[in-house]
Order: sequence, then structure tokens, then C-alpha cells
Amino acid sequence: MQLPIYLDNHATTPCDPQVMEVMQPFFTKFFGNPSSRHHVFGAQAGEAIEVAREQVASLIVAAPKEIVFTGCATESNNLAIRGLIEASGKSHRHVITAATEHHSVLESCKHLERLGHQMTVLPVDRYGLVDLQKLQDAFRPETILVSIMMANNEIGTIAPIAEMAAITHERGALLHSDLAQATGKIPIDVKKLGVDLASIAAHKIYAPKGVGALYIRSSVPSIRLSAQMLGGGQERQMRSGTYNVPGIVGLGKAAQLCQELMKDEATRIERLRNLLFNSINEALPEVVLNGHPTQRLPGNLNISLPGIESEKILTAFRKEMAISSGAACTSASSEPSHVLRAIGLQKELIHCSLRFGIGRFNTEEEIIYAAKRLNEERQRIWKQN
Ligand SMILES: *Cc1c(COP(=O)(O)O)cnc(C)c1O
Repeated sequence: MQLPIYLDNHATTPCDPQVMEVMQPFFTKFFGNPSSRHHVFGAQAGEAIEVAREQVASLIVAAPKEIVFTGCATESNNLAIRGLIEASGKSHRHVITAATEHHSVLESCKHLERLGHQMTVLPVDRYGLVDLQKLQDAFRPETILVSIMMANNEIGTIAPIAEMAAITHERGALLHSDLAQATGKIPIDVKKLGVDLASIAAHKIYAPKGVGALYIRSSVPSIRLSAQMLGGGQERQMRSGTYNVPGIVGLGKAAQLCQELMKDEATRIERLRNLLFNSINEALPEVVLNGHPTQRLPGNLNISLPGIESEKILTAFRKEMAISSGAACTSASSEPSHVLRAIGLQKELIHCSLRFGIGRFNTEEEIIYAAKRLNEERQRIWKQN
């Protein structure tokens, strides 16, 4: 086993070596611009993009033509939310979202609010779930979009998207779902879920950073989005800019690997997660589990160790173990986690929260080590207090 141990797979994942291998030739040999279709360099790159489109579509049971490649899930979220409202061509539209969404969703909605539209931010319960009755009650005649994520990046809670889609469609609105954490980790069938728009991030599924995708349902009634990036008209005018060919090829391969490995991988990772939690719980029965006890991502563990400031744990583990926290000290905005606040976690427990993200390359040995070291550090810090 090698140190440091990487247990922050919700923040980003390493590239799978198999992903790297298929990307490599697209930097050097097949470096063409897919828009230069009149020569073989461009045509080869263009064909590779279409293979990747099929692979990504297949992972979420979509049609290839329903996939638009973007620069990241942040961009996909912006395109879905701002693009839909803008294309509706009317002022005073209404969007519904939830308090635990990713900042790229919340900020996109806030931006629309500044432009004269309206937003409702639904509260969540202690597990991070939206009350379906509250969702029903939030609709207004001007509501055209609901944006609710499938799996939360901090607490791992998985939302009942199919039920939300049914409610949304009954009220004549569309459902966008941020799938950045859910894709490749749990089975997704966009048709069965009934989502109209869905965002994907490559670097959360063992492909490189700087690539994403947006699923746009193609069946009638058709969805119109205003492009947020104007220029050469790539991706059927939806997303201009020269294709990140290696990145897209990598995303495609990563999607294919996830599809192949998902079942066994989820079982293995969930077992490691439970092993980690049980070891911590045995040594410290007061440990608080944040998020839903069962409806959660297999690799997610979010806990609070009462009385043990997470900052101290993270400092102690800086060179040894990569984990994260919802405490203010670790976030870019230096604000405590809006997700942990939304589930009503007390300030002190937010301050003591730790997030473990277990992924494809973690081993049982690493998990046993992490649990042992956490216990040692916790006791050391406790004695200092
Ligand atoms: C990582 C993440 C994003 C942002 O993805 P980028 O590709 O980094 O922009 C959006 N939503 C969720 C839930 C995420 O985990």
C-alpha cells in the first residue's frame, strides 16, 4: 500500500489507465479538428467523437443524438437551466430547485432571478430529500423547469427522480437532473426516470477534467435551448467551440467501462464503505452519519465526529490521506457547506464533518488503514482538547 491514500473521489477521480490509453493517439496521431471533415485527419477525429457519443448515450440508455458534449458539468447545468429559460423567450418564468443542489445549478437559477425570473428553492429533510408534496405545491402557472440532482456530491443521498419527473410533467414543466455523481455509479435509464435534461461530468467517472455532456430528450414535445456559447455552431448549434477530442474520447471510454464494471464495482465499493463506517462506529458509537442511511451512493460516507474539529483531522492527514469536510476551512468560498446546513445539521457538527469518497482504485487495505489512523488521530486530538 502506498501513501497518500486518495479518498476524495467526489471531488474528482483519477483517469483510468484504460481511458488514458484510448486518449493518447488523439493528442499526437489523430489530432484533427472534427469540423475539418474534408480531410482524413478531421474525419477520423469526427468518427471518434461519434463513437464516444454512442458510449455516453448507452450508459444512460439515451440515443446518441440526445447527447451534447460540453466543457464540464457546470457548463451542462448552465446550458440546461439558462438555455431553457432563455429559449422560452418570455420574462417572468419560474424555476424550482432544491437547497442541496450544486452551486452551478443554484447560481444559474440566481442569475435568472436577477434577469427578472423567479426561483423557488425547496427545503430538504434531514436526509437531504425534498418532500414530494412541497414540490407539488411549488408549481405556478409560470413554472417551466424543475432542477433536482439525482445523487448529492456531499452526502450521497439519492433522490426519487422518477417520481419527481412524473409530478413535474403533470404540471406541464420539464425536469433537469444533475447526474454528475450518479452516472456510472448507479444504474440510470433516462427514459425510465423521465428526465428531460441531464448533466454529466467526465472527471467524476475516471475520465479527464474539462469535459462534460448534456442529455437533451429528443422525443416530442421537443426541447429548445439557447446556446450559451456562440461561434462555429458545433454540436448542432448548441455548443460552439473546437471539440476537446481526446477528452471526449476519454469520456466515451470511461462511460463504457462504467457500464461494464458498475454492478461488481458498486458492490465492492459499498462493502468498503460499510467496512469504513463500521470500524469508525465501533470505536466511536457517537459518530453521526450525515445523509440517508440506505438511499445513498455506494462510495459515499459523510460523518461528523462530535467534538473533533475536522480541520484538525485534515491537517493531520494532509500528506497521508485525502478526505474532505463541510467545514468552512476547506471550501473555496470559506462558507460552511450549504448542503449540511440544508439538512439541518448543527453548526458544531458541520464543523466536525468528514466526507470520504471511495472509488474504483481504493483497496480494502487502504480502508482498514484509514479507519485505524482516523481512530488514532481522533484520540490524539481528543486528549489535546
Ligand atoms: C462535480 C460536480 C459538478 C461540476 O462538474 P464540473 O465538471 O467540475 O464542472 C456539478 N454537479 C455535481 C453534483 C458535481 O458533483
